[in-house]
Amino acid sequence: MIYSLIFTIALAATIFLFYRSIKRIRTHIKLGKDIDISDQSSARWKKMFLVAIGQSKMTKKPIAGLLHIMVYVGFIIVNIEMLEIFIDGISGTHRFLSFIPFYNGIISLVEFFAIMVIIACITFLIRRNILRVKRFHKPEMKSWPSLDANIILISEVLLMTAFLSMNAADRILQIREFGHYTNTGGFFFSEFIIPMFSALPSSTLIFIERFGWWFHILGVFAFLNYIPYSKHFHVFLAFPNVFYSKLKPRTYINNMESVTNEVKIAMGLLQDDGAATEEIATFGAKDVRDFNWKVLMDAYTCTECGRCTDVCPANITGKLLSPRKIVMDTRDRLELVGNTVMKDSDKAEIDGSLLHDYISDEELWACTTCNACTEACPVEIDQVSIITELRRYSYMEESAAPSPLVAANTNIENNGAPWQFPADDRANWADEVESDGNKIDVPIMGDLFAQGKKPEYLFWVGSAGSYDRRAKKISADFIKVLNFLKVDYAILGIEESDSGDIAKRSGNEFTYQMQAMMNIEVLNSYEVKKIITCDPHDYNIILNEYSELGGIYEVEHHTQFLGRMIKDAKLNLNTALKGKSITYHDPCYLGRGNGEYDAPREILQALGVNINEMPRNKSNALCCGAGGGQMFKEAEKGDREIFVERTDEALKTQSEIIVSACPFCMTMLTDGVKYQNKEEEIKNYDIAELVAMAIE
Ligand code: SF4
Ligand code: SF4
Repeated sequence: MIYSLIFTIALAATIFLFYRSIKRIRTHIKLGKDIDISDQSSARWKKMFLVAIGQSKMTKKPIAGLLHIMVYVGFIIVNIEMLEIFIDGISGTHRFLSFIPFYNGIISLVEFFAIMVIIACITFLIRRNILRVKRFHKPEMKSWPSLDANIILISEVLLMTAFLSMNAADRILQIREFGHYTNTGGFFFSEFIIPMFSALPSSTLIFIERFGWWFHILGVFAFLNYIPYSKHFHVFLAFPNVFYSKLKPRTYINNMESVTNEVKIAMGLLQDDGAATEEIATFGAKDVRDFNWKVLMDAYTCTECGRCTDVCPANITGKLLSPRKIVMDTRDRLELVGNTVMKDSDKAEIDGSLLHDYISDEELWACTTCNACTEACPVEIDQVSIITELRRYSYMEESAAPSPLVAANTNIENNGAPWQFPADDRANWADEVESDGNKIDVPIMGDLFAQGKKPEYLFWVGSAGSYDRRAKKISADFIKVLNFLKVDYAILGIEESDSGDIAKRSGNEFTYQMQAMMNIEVLNSYEVKKIITCDPHDYNIILNEYSELGGIYEVEHHTQFLGRMIKDAKLNLNTALKGKSITYHDPCYLGRGNGEYDAPREILQALGVNINEMPRNKSNALCCGAGGGQMFKEAEKGDREIFVERTDEALKTQSEIIVSACPFCMTMLTDGVKYQNKEEEIKNYDIAELVAMAIE
């Protein structure tokens, strides 16, 4: 009776304290701005089953993934036993469920998973503390995060050991027909412990059995109330976090509605009645309350596994940025702000801010927006959205972006390109396109439209393809292929302006939206339906972000277009490149961003080349270092440049050619080859250039 009372009090206290913790975290998350994420519920359920329940991302690192699944499944299965413990605890019975058929088989199964949990936790402890796996020992993992992980792992081992010891002692007492220890039959795994206990007197066995029982249940109660203060809270939040995670392509960044209204007013597309702009408090985020609730939920869901930091090109090359730290900082700041607000709801100002006091400018501006972190995260945290919002604040509220990046943005505003080239020179490259010494006339959309013609495709050249010396050659070669295929196309010529990608990724939403709306106006005026581009950044922004601003087009990257032409047998390639050894670099905005890994490889196969994959390829490919505005600024301090790291990886394949499908990647990899003085040994080409070689 007394034990039932103690148990009931402990259970009630656990439920009360756990409820309080959940309420606290819920209140903290709700400090974020409201956002409606109720769309596409079936796609969300599917993703949740796949990623959160199915643990699909964990298996990308097979050993760690398997161990994690062992703990995860074990945690669920072992809790079946908890049901009986609850009943016994409250009613004072012993093994209340032993009447059900196959009871000892069920308990044996639970024991199997308990052993799996022990094996996995001990392996995790060895990896962390003896093998010292690098990602667990980054600066942000010092002190509490490291202790927290060890506390949890050791607790799980102790809990499972207590469970197995309890069963072994219980079984001996059953065999001795002692007291109320009813015979349930043997439990398969704890049978192996029995020889260690068999010489003990019954009183000692009762102590072991009771101690194991109480240790197990009180341990679980303590564990439950520890979890909300630990990274292990992800065992609860992983499910809603994945459910509400981004369904759009990884490289999609939202269009700020408040800016849209201002830009529309500035362009005369919207009447300024005051209502459109009155709600703007700040642009971007300086502190946790400036984010939406999903970002704050992300912060509480982080498992601190470090998979994101492990693949981050900035971190790999010794820069200060660690995406895990960005998320942990957000959570730590939210804890402080949330607890303060809960104590004093009127307190508007809280000392410090996430930006500057937790996350430095150096970290913020080291990001290439490559999305390797979001791809790697097993619980679908969007680290890039935190960085983007902070950059928006830094750029638009503080004017604190790195000056070369500001200069590139100013050029976009003044010249429609990130360089200081006149806008009127944008189509000059087209005057130099030749095939077999014969000039090719590149059709201009405005001229054709004036003649009443509507070409099927618009070739979106982009700023790099229009002005950059090396990228202009790619544009010219792609034109040769289009002409060879007799494609009905045109370019916008000087009516094209920068897509705004660099502006958007550097946090300058105003300039981006100005550019986007200007371009959309031009495109829509020509009733453009289909767009092809050689630039994955422009492909991404036109396809995913312009569409929300009224620019809805079928957009293809040139590799997708060429791949389709080959599949449809419209493009037959000769054997000019047959047998050449080639390594292909996946551009982040095409591959990880928009899931296109196959089309470029299919073209290479059609060319008959031998593809030597780099160790990091497809979704795991290392960024070239150019994205997120990095190409227009100095790299942040580190051990080496990202482009050198990636070029080294390409050089190690000992290929004759490094091929890519992005003008920015081309610049970075060309610089990398020059940096290593390997220009004689290896050449850099775009896929369009290789195709152009194989049609001549
Ligand atoms: S987007 Fe790329 S560079 Fe930026 S934090 Fe993530 S992994 Fe690092
Ligand atoms: S953000 Fe995701 S990948 Fe990074 S440490 Fe947290 S859970 Fe792991």
